[in-house]
This record gives sequence, structure tokens and C-alpha cells, in this order.
Amino acid sequence: AKMKILICGGGNGAHCFTALASACQNVEVNVLTIYKDEAERWTDALKSSELIVSISKPDGSVTETHSKPSLVTKDPQVAVDGVHIIFIVVPAYVHQFYLQVLSPYIKPNTLIVGLPGHAGFELQCLHMLHRESRKCAIVGFESLPWACRIIEYGKRVQLLGFKDILHASFLLGANCNLQFPAIETIQSILGPIPSIKVAANVLAVALMTGSIMHPPIMYGKWKNWDKTPLDVKPLFYQGVDEEQANIATSLSDEVVKTAKQIQEMCPDLDMSDVVHLSDWFKAHYQDGIADNSSLMMSMRTNRAYEGLVHPMKALDNGYVPDFAYRYTTEDVPFGLVVLKGLAVIAGVATPTMDKIIQWAQSIIGKEYIIGTDLVGKDVKFSRAPQSFGLNTLEQVQDFISSHIC
Ligand code: NAD
Repeated sequence: AKMKILICGGGNGAHCFTALASACQNVEVNVLTIYKDEAERWTDALKSSELIVSISKPDGSVTETHSKPSLVTKDPQVAVDGVHIIFIVVPAYVHQFYLQVLSPYIKPNTLIVGLPGHAGFELQCLHMLHRESRKCAIVGFESLPWACRIIEYGKRVQLLGFKDILHASFLLGANCNLQFPAIETIQSILGPIPSIKVAANVLAVALMTGSIMHPPIMYGKWKNWDKTPLDVKPLFYQGVDEEQANIATSLSDEVVKTAKQIQEMCPDLDMSDVVHLSDWFKAHYQDGIADNSSLMMSMRTNRAYEGLVHPMKALDNGYVPDFAYRYTTEDVPFGLVVLKGLAVIAGVATPTMDKIIQWAQSIIGKEYIIGTDLVGKDVKFSRAPQSFGLNTLEQVQDFISSHIC
């Protein structure tokens, strides 16, 4: 039977996924973008041409796929009509806007997918959909399956590389009668890579280390920056030094410790999916890393990261770091602050995480922690469990259970 899916968003990931999914037989694709005039621009672009994705394969070859979605619109009611799966493919701070506009129209037995979800996605869905979430299923991915970027709006997108595996959470509402196998269906639309691994539980996905890579590198690189513009944009991963790698390692130690402690407090919660960043690298980029003898070398020699530079702004006299980029504005409130919230709940001290959050919140003008306490005025705009009124492990579990049991 034909699957009808909705892709929400109008950026890089939404373009890439729309191109791939529209090319699938038996999949009909609607696109909803509520941002500015994107729906009009994209619709106009598709009048004269198809959507083209050029795909760089792991063996170095490049292929092109041409396809077209059925509809691109800014009207949520029209977009969601008859849809089996809703994929939300936008930066994490935008999730709430899509959940808000869609929630009046979401039908029972719909699968809602955060692609990616980022830490706290599932909690936010349950919170915003209220009792309706009992009739839906929710999947949250730890990251986007591809590195990709728009080349020409609505017309051409470039898929630069695939992840090998991708973890996902899966929550089935107590009264949801899904008519298709959730993960297999998503896998068939994505294609063979990345291979989807369902994590044992939502908290494990939240703690999954993929989202914690950028802030320690940013912190290590820029914490002592003297504000002098640079002549060239520094390499992001290939430029990682010993200190940055050590900061990332300590941060990852704290996250793994939090997972272990949660498992200890609640033996039913299987947290074994939460692995150290260095192991995560080996699992996610099996063939792409020339030297995985250390975390620093894994980052420096990962082919998928070749040429990636720090987010920089060009000034007349050189380049300065762009601290409004997602490595801080997304990966802190929808990454580290959620992890901090879980560490607080688990009673685990996080000196490295605290240092990074302190630095990051000052450069983005937010306040999440005061000293080491998660009591800043902006916690409520993050997705830490505490922002949903959940302050103990029992409260978190009860909240999730009230939707799925
Ligand atoms: P993007 O920067 O292309 O997203 C921008 C789009 O988001 C806009 O075009 C618009 O459609 C939407 N948007 C932005 N602000 C909005 C608002 N206020 N209201 C409504 N819509 C708004 O993002 P992307 O590159 O597609 O990435 C999506 C997610 O995947 C992000 O979480 C990103 O961190 C993650 N990710 C991306 C890549 C990549 O290669 N692009 C790689 C890994 C992870």
C-alpha cells in the first residue's frame, strides 16, 4: 500500500529527505514549511524543474536522483491530510512551532518522527500533544542521517555523506494502533544506510553522545580567544588539539557516569546504549577513520569531516567565530542542558559540563546554570526534564508511562 508522509521544514535536511523520499515508489510526499515565503519559493522552483539530489557515495562516486513531492505548502491542515508519518526535519528550537501548528490536525495512529530529535524531543512531544500523544507513536533520531546542503533553493541539494548507524527512540502511545511497522517503514524510506538501531529507552537516546561533540570543541578552541580576527577559517575536526579532545573525553565520561547511575537507580532502565564518545566514533564511522587510536586522531582523520571549518563570520579584517551557530545555540539548550538536567536527577557531579555551559551561556546571552545548579532563568526554554516540571527519575518515568501505558 502507498505510504503518505509529511516532511516538515524547508532547510538542508528537509530538501535532502524530500528528494530521497519522493523518489521512493509507493511513497507520496507532502512538504510543510511555515517559515517566511519558503513554501511559495519552493513551489515556484518545482514548476520548472524537478528536485535533484546529488549523492556522494562512500566509494567516492556521485549519483543524481530526480524527483518531486506532491505538494509544498504552508497550510498545516492541508499538509497533514491523510498522512501516516510526520517527519519533522528542522533545527531543535523549531520543533515546538511545528508541534503547535500541527497538533489540532494530527489524526490518531500517526507516527511522529524527529529527524533529528535532539535531546528532550520525546518529552516535548508528550508535553505539547497532551493526551493526544496516547494515540500516536513517536520516534526521535539522535542525528540527521546525512551531511547535506542546499545548492539552489527548491531545486538542488547535495548529500555529502551518510552516517553508518543512527540510534532512535521509539514510544508507542497506549491507544495507538499503528497500521505499519514503524522502524522498518522509516528504514525503507531512508534506504539501507544509515542502519537504524532502536535504543532501549528514551533517556538513553537523550544521553547519546552524538550531540555533545560540538560544544567541547567550541569551548576548547575559543575560551581564551583574544578577539583578534583570523586570516583563515580554522578546521573544525581536523584542527582538534589535545586539549579539546581531553575536554570532550571528560564530558563524555560525565555522560556515561550519568547513564550508569540512572541504571543503578532504576535497574529496569537499560542504559547500555550510552557509550563513550571514542566508542561512538568507531561504531558510527567504521570505514571512514584512518587512525582511531585516540579520540583526537579519530576526529582529525575522519573522512566525513574533511574540510569542515569552524562557524565563522567574515569581517573586513578577517574571520571571527559565529557564536549564533547551531553548535552553541542548538547543542547547548537541546543538548548539554538536557544532559545536565539528567545528571542533576541522577546526582552526578559534572564539572566539565558545567564549565562548558557557563562559557556557552555567556556567549549566547542565556542563563541555564548558576554555579553548578540548574536554576537559571532560561532553563524553561531548554528541554531539560526540569523545564517540564520533572525533577526526579520517578517523575520522568511516570510522565513517560502515563502516555505509553
Ligand atoms: P537548516 O539550518 O537548513 O534549517 C533551517 C530551516 O529551518 C529554515 O529553512 C526553515 O525551514 C526552518 N526554520 C528556521 N527558523 C524557523 C522558525 N523560526 N520557524 C519555522 N521554521 C524555521 O537545518 P538543517 O541543516 O536542515 O538541519 C536540521 C537539523 O539537523 C538540525 O538540528 C541540525 O543541527 C541537524 N544536522 C544537520 C546536518 C547537515 O548537514 N545539514 C548534519 C548533522 C545534523
